[in-house]
Amino acid sequence: MTRLLIILLACAPALGFAADRKTQNVFLITADGLRWQEVFRGAEDMPLNKEFGNFGNSNAIRKDFWRETPEARREVLFPFIWGTVAKQGQLWGNRDKSSDVRVSNGRNFSYPGYNEFLTGYADPKIDSNDKVLNTNTNVFEWLHAQRAFRGRVAAAINWDVLPWILNAPRAGFPVWSGFDVPAGTKRMEVPPALTEMVERGRTIWSGVLLDTFVGHAAKHAVRTIKPRAMYVSFGETDDWAHEGNYERYLRGAYEFDRFIGELWALCQSMSRYRGRTTFIITVDHGRGPAPIAWKNHGKEIVDSAYMWFAVIGPDTAPLGERSNTPLIKQAQIAATVGAIVGQDFHSAFPQSAPPIAEVVGAKQP
Ligand SMILES: [Zn+2]
Repeated sequence: MTRLLIILLACAPALGFAADRKTQNVFLITADGLRWQEVFRGAEDMPLNKEFGNFGNSNAIRKDFWRETPEARREVLFPFIWGTVAKQGQLWGNRDKSSDVRVSNGRNFSYPGYNEFLTGYADPKIDSNDKVLNTNTNVFEWLHAQRAFRGRVAAAINWDVLPWILNAPRAGFPVWSGFDVPAGTKRMEVPPALTEMVERGRTIWSGVLLDTFVGHAAKHAVRTIKPRAMYVSFGETDDWAHEGNYERYLRGAYEFDRFIGELWALCQSMSRYRGRTTFIITVDHGRGPAPIAWKNHGKEIVDSAYMWFAVIGPDTAPLGERSNTPLIKQAQIAATVGAIVGQDFHSAFPQSAPPIAEVVGAKQP
């Protein structure tokens, strides 16, 4: 290493920890198994292809989500992501433009994926979706242990396994779930009407809630607990896709986008959050290609390793849809969540992947 390079490295501000950072609050928001293909190309032309699966009311989905160009299709499916995030933030993962974001755990299903982006580490020991308390520390648990974040971390989640993935009893921050949680979990308070609706609204799937309940709980948390770091997980997309119901999958995706837009608007209406909040939006895994494998994901479906993420906030340059980017690993999300609020998760857990420099305010090369 040359002497000059050593001096340059010594003088460079630590990645993502610049003193002029504006972000005080971070939200990580995920949609289970929502493909990069819909995010960047919009709806597939499914009603013309019978092997595709059940596409419900094909006239209604064509009217709502079919347009002539991929750009028009994605804008009508994800109005907030393309109308606001793409203009003020960044989107990664469009393989048509040489931007690859990959699951690195090699399994391409949920527990390994949630563990990877929450803890920054693709743990080879995690090989099922069983309710086993995670031994790895997630970035929200770690933030909650910092003085500045104590009592200001929360999660609202859709899937019954997530309290185990978060190791909620050890993590200590309040979690909202519509299901049983491991002993010792601190539950987030919500209005009784929501609890009543959730108890009687679990009629579709046994371990997954309808996303509308999760969105309601998350907005309630913002108004009451006012978290500085929050994790919100949605997941209708994955379940409708496994059922091969493309109409419901698309409508789930559309409502996911609408929720993010509403939460963003809520944050911008509150002085505590306005201009000092970053949203990171991503998924636990991708899915296979149309017309058949889009329904599923897993080790044997190689394409389901490809995923995407989006970021909007005051410290992320408004570069929009990225192209020709270096490969990003899912594991980098955890340290990125920390770095965006000035906290160095990667140094605290050296086995975790480093933050994504271009979204946490590092100078562009
Ligand atoms: Zn799945």
